Amino acid sequence: MPASAPFLAVTDLRTRTLSPAELSAALPRAELDVEAAAAAVRPVVEDVAARGAEAVLEASERFDGIRPEHLRVPQAALRRALEELDPAIRAALEESAERVRRVDAAQARPAESVEVVPGGTVTQRWVPVARVGLYVPGGRAVLPSSVVMNVVPAQVAGVEQIVLASPPQKEHGGLPHPTIMAACALLGVTEVLAVGGAQAIALLAHGADDLGDGAALESVDLVTGPGNVYVAAAKRLVRGTVGIDAEAGPTEIAILADGAADPAYVAADLISQAEHDPLAASVLVTDSPQLAAAVEAELAVQVPQALHRARIEQALRGQQSGIVLVTDLEQGLAVVDAYGAEHLEIQTADAAEVAARVTNAGAVFVGPHSPVSLGDYAAGSNHVLPTGGTSRFTGGLGVQTFLRGIHVVHYDRGALAGARAAATTLADAEGLPAHGSAIDIRFAD
Ligand code: NAD
Repeated sequence: MPASAPFLAVTDLRTRTLSPAELSAALPRAELDVEAAAAAVRPVVEDVAARGAEAVLEASERFDGIRPEHLRVPQAALRRALEELDPAIRAALEESAERVRRVDAAQARPAESVEVVPGGTVTQRWVPVARVGLYVPGGRAVLPSSVVMNVVPAQVAGVEQIVLASPPQKEHGGLPHPTIMAACALLGVTEVLAVGGAQAIALLAHGADDLGDGAALESVDLVTGPGNVYVAAAKRLVRGTVGIDAEAGPTEIAILADGAADPAYVAADLISQAEHDPLAASVLVTDSPQLAAAVEAELAVQVPQALHRARIEQALRGQQSGIVLVTDLEQGLAVVDAYGAEHLEIQTADAAEVAARVTNAGAVFVGPHSPVSLGDYAAGSNHVLPTGGTSRFTGGLGVQTFLRGIHVVHYDRGALAGARAAATTLADAEGLPAHGSAIDIRFAD
């Protein structure tokens, strides 16, 4: 490909009227989707379920190039990592955690009790999941910020047992990256595993009789966290055995922008997410061909200066990235809703008004001073967010992910008498008379 070729392919929807489904099909999407990756990692997940630690070690050798000496990270290694952590990184992690904690604490819900009729109440109790497995990426980049984003909401929810997994690093003797271990120690997480990818998700979901140190690993009830397409695929495969949060796979940024946007900001933000993964998606939706051209010109300047330019180019030139030209912001909103991006930036003249009309997105970033990178680290919002269009039916990680709502029903005899006719009528209508009898028997006298 000549260096002067545009980075982003253009899809022109200006003359087309499409249904939401047609629109969704016309938008850029990754070639390797979660379904295809699931077929690739299914043998790994099944092997770990059947053979436990030995299968994990073999997969680590194959995919991470190292057979870790300790799958369960020793406490001394966690303590040492925290002692050796750069004070500036420690302060930044603390600030990030404090901001996320403030948001999560405000969003934790108290029990809600409704007196449906006198003597008849339904209470919703919010109960934390007992044991959770948190995944923190460590392939192309190590993401200590994902320790914060997973651990803080779990702690605010009141989860008692937290186990965290992150890939073993060859350069660090098969332990997770020191900054990740330090972040765990900083937040008080002591059960840490040196395992990545699909094998990590399978190990968390199925546990192991012996983790190689003579002690078992108990399986978890819920697995959360971001990762590459193989991690997202493994989460899809273990769903049902355990709960999962959203499929938080290769990152996506969509930017809805008009002629008022600064092309340098737009280009920088598209690049920032492309830096994650060759499969990352960077999509600009605009009604301004002038802005589209200016963003291309900015990419030509900024991409060659980037540290990870090869990966960024691959992501921008991939079929999952591109520019979508629309007639106006109305059509632009239809496009971003059909796409359902993990991250959606609104860079238009009246950004707050436009943002209020978005219905499908993992998180929305409003105006020129709310870049996605802010949300990645220090906004107080969570960066573990749904990808691949799954924002249609799920939100990102948060304190609610770690809580289960339990309805507690408490009626007295008088209140039951008032509901008797409705309940027994519906029981009869469903051909389930024993249901009605279970109510009638209480009034036999
Ligand atoms: P990772 O930890 O997710 O994946 C590394 C692991 O992938 C390795 O340990 C290895 O076991 C496995 N692997 C690599 N190649 C494989 C193959 N061919 N087959 C099977 N397994 C293989 O780290 P990463 O690769 O750097 O990816 C991090 C991902 O997390 C990026 O895609 C980033 O965009 C994404 N992310 C998503 C969100 C979100 O909320 N959606 C947030 C942060 C990061």
